[in-house]
Amino acid sequence: MIDLAQLPPEGATASGAAASLDLGDGTVLRDASWRVRVLPSDGDYFLEVKGAAVWEGACSRCLEPLDLSLELESRFLGSRDAALVSGGNHVIGSQDLDVVFLPEPAVDEEALAVEHFQLHAPMHPLCREDCAGLCPQCGKNWNKGPCSCRPDIVKEPGALAKALSGLKLNLEGD
Ligand SMILES: [Zn+2]
Ligand SMILES: [Zn+2]
Repeated sequence: MIDLAQLPPEGATASGAAASLDLGDGTVLRDASWRVRVLPSDGDYFLEVKGAAVWEGACSRCLEPLDLSLELESRFLGSRDAALVSGGNHVIGSQDLDVVFLPEPAVDEEALAVEHFQLHAPMHPLCREDCAGLCPQCGKNWNKGPCSCRPDIVKEPGALAKALSGLKLNLEGD
């Protein structure tokens, strides 16, 4: 915890790490580490959150388990003054910073890091750019090959590719 009432003029830093961190939405971070820096700034606080972790989730199309490395680096202004926060963002030097309300007299670096990891977690992660997804009919993972569902019910995404590769073979076959 960083106690805002006892914050020295040069600021304070707190860091932490966790082998496993539950993001509360079914996803978990592995080997997470973070560092939070708080500097006094005109009665408010300049905050910097840095962190790194491996995000463990699933491909949003084929649902296969997926690991992604996650790095975060955020800077913002924290204020104990709710009126200032409702005013939106603030410019400090050349930086246009969001203002976040700090309801507590101390900053919990782990809670702050978790919040920022959640913000940076991928919304629609894909195992690969062209993931074929699952057959809506039988649930087969089309990345592992076509299923035997009737093509008039399910449009098989591999059909065109197959036709093209057949064409190529014919051309090469001469
Ligand atoms: Zn996938
Ligand atoms: Zn199918």
